[in-house]
Amino acid sequence: MNSTVEYTAPWVIAFQDGEHRLLRNGSIVVEGDTVVHVGRPGEVRADRTEHTNSIIAPGFISMHTHMQESPADKGIAEDMEKRQFWGTNLIEILPPRAKALTVDDMHACTRVSIAEHLRTGATTVMQMGVESDYVAKKCEEIGLRAFIGESYRSGEWYTADGKNVEYRWFDDDGRGAFESALNFALQHRNASGDALVTGFLNPSQVDTCSEELLRSTRAAADEHDLLMQIHAAQSYSEFHEMTRRHGRTPIEWLDDIGFLSERTLIGHGLFLTGTSWTNFHGDDLGLLSRSGTTVVYNPWVFARNGIVMESYDSYQREGVDVCLGTDTTTQSMLLSMRWASIITKVFEHRADAGEARDVFDAATVRAADVLRRPDLGRIQKGAKADLVFWKTDTLTMMPSRDPIRTIVYYAEHDDIDRVMVGGRFSLENDVVRGLDEMADRRALQEAAERIWEGWPQHDWANRTMDEHVPLSYPLFEQRG
Ligand SMILES: [Zn+2]
Repeated sequence: MNSTVEYTAPWVIAFQDGEHRLLRNGSIVVEGDTVVHVGRPGEVRADRTEHTNSIIAPGFISMHTHMQESPADKGIAEDMEKRQFWGTNLIEILPPRAKALTVDDMHACTRVSIAEHLRTGATTVMQMGVESDYVAKKCEEIGLRAFIGESYRSGEWYTADGKNVEYRWFDDDGRGAFESALNFALQHRNASGDALVTGFLNPSQVDTCSEELLRSTRAAADEHDLLMQIHAAQSYSEFHEMTRRHGRTPIEWLDDIGFLSERTLIGHGLFLTGTSWTNFHGDDLGLLSRSGTTVVYNPWVFARNGIVMESYDSYQREGVDVCLGTDTTTQSMLLSMRWASIITKVFEHRADAGEARDVFDAATVRAADVLRRPDLGRIQKGAKADLVFWKTDTLTMMPSRDPIRTIVYYAEHDDIDRVMVGGRFSLENDVVRGLDEMADRRALQEAAERIWEGWPQHDWANRTMDEHVPLSYPLFEQRG
């Protein structure tokens, strides 16, 4: 029999009648990995009671992350206008960076990423990449709920001349990687939902996967009841490639081959018909909406390149479910919610667009529904105890009339006091359980310096990192 702990708090973001509710002077009782009571203090007997001065809120769910590599993008992906590739840095930055990362580097990135997610309030992530066994092991040890899809594809893009995007196709069409990814997903079926790790399928990108590979993915997802996420409509070069190959938009083509469904997630989904990005007519939003497909918006990394969703609110008005993720760096759902909200207000010219409650829903309960996990993203009896304890007495959190708007518009990551995943604290007393974060950050710095140093080897024009991505100011010259 587990012991029960009651946490009282000035605010609990509780769940009632299908939506979040603000519970003033509330209490929750946790037993094992589950919330067993939400209400007034002392309503039920607990073995121990802890009176907190916190806002207790559900942890965030990042629906799109690449933990084994994302931190390595910091410092090389900003302020770069890749005009030839219509503003995406996928073509010139990603392949050299991916080739330079060693297995040890990816492990260091993973540990830093887990800490970054927890410290910014995420308790669940949807992870896509490689080294999945290591990522799964670390998530279980430290305590981060993770849906993990091992990436696979039929080929890869590259540029040989800085002008054209070319594709190199693998001899086996990516079948070997698909089989091992499917194996990983089946090993982590997690039918009960009690394990921290759950598998899903991640065919990497719409333009690097063959029709056969995607048809096999859909068949396996149907047979084994698995979720699927693919990057699509993420750049103009990809949009143009798909219309050139098939005379169809990326979304139309995915619909043609039967890939869109209620278990399908589209990473990004920005370059759609009817947007200024494509200047191409059609009904991509209708196809997404009618098929029940979810779009995962990663606002910060795209806004950094001058690209926004047109618009977060209008997708939803068309009936498309939009969730939020973090993608590369910074891996912060706080930034994701804030930028989704602000960009939408600016785009729509309306203060009531991209409301705090809407982005908070997207980061919690709506994401959980897409994951088909009614026990996540909310604080109610029977839900998993995935909780963030926010401070209430800091510069940024005071005064607080409305805890949701305070969190969405003002909170900083160090306003987070503690993070609980499945009833255990993964972040407490400024320590992420089981990690030596300073050592991990040093390992990341060393890895990054090696990547910058070795950049000419992997760059199509053998440019140094400083030639490719100049520093903000010239280095100071020592004279005399
Ligand atoms: Zn991504």
